[in-house]
Amino acid sequence: MICTDLTLHLRSRSRATSARPPAPLSTVAWCDSAFVSALRCSMRGMEQLGFDGMPRRLYSAYPSRLTTWLDCPRRFRMAYLERPPPPKGPPWGHNSLGASIHLALAAWWRLPYARRTPTEAITLVKAVWLEDGYRDAQQSASLRARATEMVAKYVSGLDPAHEPIGVERVVATRTEIVALSGRVDRIDQRGDELVVVDYKTGRHALTTDDARGSLALAAYAVATQRTLHRRCRTVELHHLPTGSVVEWTYSDGALERHLRRIDDIAAECRDAEEAFTRGLEDAETDRVFPPRVGAQCAWCDFARACPEGARAYPTRQPWAGLPDC
Ligand code: SF4
Repeated sequence: MICTDLTLHLRSRSRATSARPPAPLSTVAWCDSAFVSALRCSMRGMEQLGFDGMPRRLYSAYPSRLTTWLDCPRRFRMAYLERPPPPKGPPWGHNSLGASIHLALAAWWRLPYARRTPTEAITLVKAVWLEDGYRDAQQSASLRARATEMVAKYVSGLDPAHEPIGVERVVATRTEIVALSGRVDRIDQRGDELVVVDYKTGRHALTTDDARGSLALAAYAVATQRTLHRRCRTVELHHLPTGSVVEWTYSDGALERHLRRIDDIAAECRDAEEAFTRGLEDAETDRVFPPRVGAQCAWCDFARACPEGARAYPTRQPWAGLPDC
């Protein structure tokens, strides 16, 4: 179960390479790297047995679930485990802005080629515009106008004849611990390889560190490769407010490290979830799901259910994350 496709992989690998000496790990091509990962998966799979000797189920997650755990285990518990969950604060304006732009761009790529114009992009932004989280109707209208400009300018720099391999495409992969899936904004073909394109709409310009260190983007690259059976090592952040593109290409080693980190986080989540399901006393709950108080608390959906976070960092207004207009 843990490595369902490993046996086939090992058999084909064995037939294909039995006459060749093994290549050093540092020089292996991707398929060999995948083989090494699969082999590790097989060996470490022994560690994935439960106390009763039965294999443990793969832990299913989106990257955002894992990053929520890293940000704050208490928030993770409230967002994913407590049922019903504690009431959330009001919607954030910056989330509405970002979602509107993502929706419009996805719809633009679904238009027939002849209609992929900046004018159509403006129409789409207006059609999908989400109103939640703005200070008032005037702020919403002002940012909608700004978003139409942004998107029109962005698509005017695109080749409408280009057909992405995927738009809002769900991709998935798995390791010995986690079944990971996620939705990629866009997947492009560049030469023989695929590139993950992630739209960004936040206020701050991005750097290569934002791409290089992103667990989610690394997961998307691996999952894209796994789902579409084509090499994918490069991710691009397209920052619409500035029109800039930040690109990063992962080495095989970097992706391996990201996957190991993903496994470590997923194992923590799984253990904590199992403890939650078994039932925790109040004191234990905070030990297993400690609050991680920091600047992020000002933006936390569950701050009203978290006295420590709300006291240290008063919740921002829903429109505080929007660009000035
Ligand atoms: S307010 Fe802060 S500490 Fe409390 S749940 Fe939210 S992020 Fe965690």
